[in-house]
Parts: sequence; C-alpha cells; structure tokens
Amino acid sequence: DDVPNSEHFTLSPIGHMVSDYPDKFGIPRQPGLAPAANAKLVLTAPYNDPLAVRGLEDFSHLWLSFIFHQSPQRWSPLVRPPRLGGNKKVGVFASRSTHRPNRLGLSLVRLVGIDTQQGVVLALQGCDLVSGTPVVDIKPYLPWAESQPNAQAGFALQTPSLLAVTFHPAALDTLTQRSDSATLHALIEQVLSQDPRPAYKQKELASDRLYGVRLRDVDVKFRQRQHGEATTLEVVAIE
Ligand code: SAM
Repeated sequence: DDVPNSEHFTLSPIGHMVSDYPDKFGIPRQPGLAPAANAKLVLTAPYNDPLAVRGLEDFSHLWLSFIFHQSPQRWSPLVRPPRLGGNKKVGVFASRSTHRPNRLGLSLVRLVGIDTQQGVVLALQGCDLVSGTPVVDIKPYLPWAESQPNAQAGFALQTPSLLAVTFHPAALDTLTQRSDSATLHALIEQVLSQDPRPAYKQKELASDRLYGVRLRDVDVKFRQRQHGEATTLEVVAIE
C-alpha cells in the first residue's frame, strides 16, 4: 500500500537551476521579460535519466514548478505587489508573491535544447529564477489548452511599461572586451528596462543614488537620469 495516509507531502528537487542571476535583486518579475537571460536546469539522479525527458525536445516551452528557496517560510494573507507601487495590498493567492504557503513557484520558459551526454541538462531562456533554485517538476506547455490571450489579468493588466536604458561610454568599453558582449548588452538592457529598483525608490525623482545588479559574473552599476518628465536608467560601470 503506497498511498500515504498523511496530509503532509514531501517534495525533493528533481534538479537545480544555473542561471544568469546570481542574486534575487534585479530578476524580472515574470519569465519572458528578459529573453536574453540564459539558464540551465541540471537534473539530479535518479531523475537525470535521459528516458525521463524523451519527447520533451519537441516542445518549445515548459512549465517549471520550483521552490522559492530564498524566501522566508512565514507568509501572511495579504501582500504588496510591486505592480501596485508597493502600497496597496491584495490576497497572497491573488498574487505571484514569493512569500506564500509552501513557497511553490511556477514559470513558463523557453526550451532551447537538451543535453543528455552526461545526465540531463536542459538549456532554457527567459527564466525568472535565481541560480541554485530547486526545481520540483517539469511539464510541457500546451498552447491549445493553456493560451488564453483574452484572459483578464486583475491588477497586472498589461506588460509593465519599460524605461529607456543608456550606457556610459566607459561601460560600453568594458562590454566590448567580453566574448559575450552582445548577449550581455541585451540582458542588461532587458533587466534594467523593467526598473528593478524597489517601488518606493522610483518616486524619488532627484535621487542620484548608485544601484548595483549582478548579472552573470558582473556587477552592473546604474543610476537614474531625469530628462524633463522622462526617466531613464544609465549604466555607469560594469565591474
Ligand atoms: N514566475 C514565478 C511565479 O509566478 O511563481 C515567479 C514570480 S516571482 C514574482 C519572480 C521573482 O522571484 C523574481 O523577480 C526574483 O526576485 C524572485 N525569485 C526568483 N527565484 C527565487 C528563489 N529561488 N527564491 C526566492 N525568490 C526568488
């Protein structure tokens, strides 16, 4: 009899992410917002059996179920979504908050390849997951059943608006010396255009505070620039 009689369920990771995001700070708030973000999902034994992914290569997109392992275990019924400026509260189950019971996350990502030379490694694009995130399940995405272009999206009605991003010549110089300059340039632009600064900070128009976001192996320093009404973010250094 292998039916558990408990109301408690234990999950073990089937693998872990290795992503362009060493830290939580700066990661876009949903997958797909930074398509230049590359990630690998490295499956763990006994799940790294090539048989377990047979047929998966024919799907372009996957659902990943994962654990927000860097979030606290405590949760509360109300959360403050960044989309609402960090002031208004909604129910945790009306949000994609990382502070939730069971700390389960769900991301739709693009599958670009499967390497079964040694175990199983999936190459992915557009993940919103910090490196090291434990993944508990993979499912192929079924557009005919799951795509709902006319769905109503509550307080998160549309794609967030983007900020323009500029690069100081010194930052461009550093970029051009790297072998991954084109994709890193795109990644920095996509990440900063989402405005990763905490919501309450965006209100401080005069702020010339320097921010840092880690992407791949670099620390990207940026600050706000005000051109009349328009706010842009300028990359001042890549260290
Ligand atoms: N698409 C997923 C979902 O809806 O369940 C995640 C949405 S959540 C709002 C995205 C944020 O989770 C990212 O901006 C990042 O800061 C944070 N994050 C990513 N990986 C995490 C982890 N392993 N633990 C805690 N927070 C994480």
